[in-house]
Amino acid sequence: MEKKILELSCLSTKKFFVFDLDGVLINSTEMGFVKINQILSYLGLENVSEEFLRPHWGKRLSELYGLVCDEVGANDEQRQEVLDLEPIISADLPYEFSRELFESLTNLRLFGFYIGLITSRTDNSLKLIAKQVGLNLEIFDQLQTVNHFYHHKPDGRVFGPFINWAAARKISPIEMVYIGDTIENDYAATQDCDPKLDFIGVVSGATTGSEFLNAGIPPCRIVEFAHLPSFLHHIIRQKVEA
Ligand SMILES: [Mg+2]
Repeated sequence: MEKKILELSCLSTKKFFVFDLDGVLINSTEMGFVKINQILSYLGLENVSEEFLRPHWGKRLSELYGLVCDEVGANDEQRQEVLDLEPIISADLPYEFSRELFESLTNLRLFGFYIGLITSRTDNSLKLIAKQVGLNLEIFDQLQTVNHFYHHKPDGRVFGPFINWAAARKISPIEMVYIGDTIENDYAATQDCDPKLDFIGVVSGATTGSEFLNAGIPPCRIVEFAHLPSFLHHIIRQKVEA
């Protein structure tokens, strides 16, 4: 435990914490897998497996649903119906943004860290889910949806506007960290970025702890979804005690 705390202390020198939304701040992964099959079943289409979905998890919704529709051989009409049904079914799911996470984000800001959000959702879909879970988007210093910029995860250039925003505040890319839940989209984007960005992997259903480890992410940068609030509070405490 002591070694882990020591390793964590290097995270307290970070100044800008950039979060992914789904599977990081909101528990949407398992419900997302189920939702896709609910939509397919509703249209009388075959279901897809989690093994099929996992490598594509975190992609833009339009892209993800396009791949799902290819997989099950949906026709043009069904493709449209899938997209039409998506927000309707989503609105009924018990997504949550926990009080504990809200407090950790607030505390990060109180203790002088900047916080940002980069999501593969569209503006509209972000607004809908934020309203649904009671997440006030004003909490973020910076946020970016797929509508804000033409580069998307896993392209490292997705971080460009945030690196520039940080530079204007004399924060270097070394002082930034991205917190995501997938290797293929989130971690890959940090590695594709020039310079590479630090990464924290959240285990919430899309990626297991051992998959993050095998991808080369150190144990002190892998955290279970439920432990993210205490993980962040730990970083704050390290900064205060430094
Ligand atoms: Mg995600």
